[in-house]
Amino acid sequence: MIDFNNVFIYSDQPTTCKKCGARTEIILDLSHTLNKTEIHRCYDKKCIFEFVMQFDLDFKNYSLL
Ligand SMILES: [Zn+2]
Repeated sequence: MIDFNNVFIYSDQPTTCKKCGARTEIILDLSHTLNKTEIHRCYDKKCIFEFVMQFDLDFKNYSLL
C-alpha cells in the first residue's frame, strides 16, 4: 500500500528510496495533474518501498514574487 500521508518533496537531487537509498522507478506519473505528484517504488526487491513525491508548489509561488 502507498502511504499518501507520507509525501516527499522534490529536490535538485535524483530521487532515491527513502528507506534504503536505492534507485527508484516511477510507477504512476501524476506530474501533469494539479497535485504534481509521482508514485515511486524502490528497485531493491527486498525493499520495494513505495512513496509519493510531490513538487514543492509553494516554492514555485515564492519564485514568482
Ligand atoms: Zn528501498
